[in-house]
Amino acid sequence: MIPFNAPPVVGTELDFMRSALGSGKLCGDGDFTRRCQSWLEQRFGSPRALLTPSGTASLEMAAILLDIKPGDEVIMPSYTFVSTANAFVLRGAIIVFVDIRPDTMNMDEQLIEAAITDKTRAIVPVHYAGIACEMDTIMALAQRYGLAVIEDAAQGVMAQYRGKPLGTIGHIGCYSFHETKNYTAGGEGGATMINDPALIDRAEIIREKGTNRSQFFRGQADKYTWRDIGSSYLMADLQAAYLWGQLEAAEAINRRRLSLWGRYREQLQPLADAGRIELPTVAEGCVQNGHMFYLKLRDFTERSAFITHMKAADILTVFHYIPLHDSPAGLRFGRFNGEDRFTTRESERLVRLPLFYNLSDAQQYQVIDAINRFFSRSSD
Ligand SMILES: *Cc1c(COP(=O)(O)O)cnc(C)c1O
Repeated sequence: MIPFNAPPVVGTELDFMRSALGSGKLCGDGDFTRRCQSWLEQRFGSPRALLTPSGTASLEMAAILLDIKPGDEVIMPSYTFVSTANAFVLRGAIIVFVDIRPDTMNMDEQLIEAAITDKTRAIVPVHYAGIACEMDTIMALAQRYGLAVIEDAAQGVMAQYRGKPLGTIGHIGCYSFHETKNYTAGGEGGATMINDPALIDRAEIIREKGTNRSQFFRGQADKYTWRDIGSSYLMADLQAAYLWGQLEAAEAINRRRLSLWGRYREQLQPLADAGRIELPTVAEGCVQNGHMFYLKLRDFTERSAFITHMKAADILTVFHYIPLHDSPAGLRFGRFNGEDRFTTRESERLVRLPLFYNLSDAQQYQVIDAINRFFSRSSD
């Protein structure tokens, strides 16, 4: 059976975890956490990276940090993971969904302005498949209306928009190190990139249960006390040790994923040329990270037949987000601004192919052969 995903393993993780075990400190903010954070700061050019337990926790931290309050409105796509919305709903915000662009599945930047009201506080672009949203337009709008931008860059680690790493363009960027993402902290993990230096001190306090413990440990305070609301948004150092193995191999992981992505693209191009499928496009000015390869089929029915056919060939392919706006919670906590031209229609015909670091060439060719068989059979 070829799984849809397997957690990335490069081979060094256990050594680093053993070294963490020998260090006498496994809780948050240990040596490996510091190493990973400086790597993220230097590599991506952000003033502060903070490891967290998950991408979800990073988004929650961002919502607290921006003081999102009941009744505030937050603009985002409906085609996203629940955590993008939940983080703000937990603060009492109302989610205002806008439609996506069919070419990238990202929020359509041209539709954001019409969704802004005097209650709007933030825009949350989601870089789907590690392919960037149109950030110049989004940042200019945010500046004009005095809004915060939180990038959901869960899928965007190592990808770029006009030379800038995703997750470092908005005021805050959120990464995920879940095992389905490009790099993992042993299953779960995340990072909050604090790109606006004015937010750093409070971000550290919120992450440390509302105390100034981080400053205390740096010798910047002679005791630590309760300063603000907060929670525990630290990653255990044992997990950071796993992540360190992955970040050290970040180039190799990225190269492998891009090569798998490129092979799907090249091998499936004939089917696209024949009008049988649509393939993902990388928007101009974007450098992607091989996070995801998807196909678009004719419609929901053809997609179901495709998934069944692939399963019979022992290959797991999966559909993706069910739009949030007409889900039970989406109806309660949000509203869709404008017309749903693409969100529902495009999400119903998209299917994701296996793409992970340890997928072998032979396995990938099996996937490609099975896809070709599906289309040769259904054209008979
Ligand atoms: C994975 C993901 C998240 C959540 O990250 P976790 O680390 O699983 O909590 C949020 N948003 C998007 C777009 C994601 O893909």
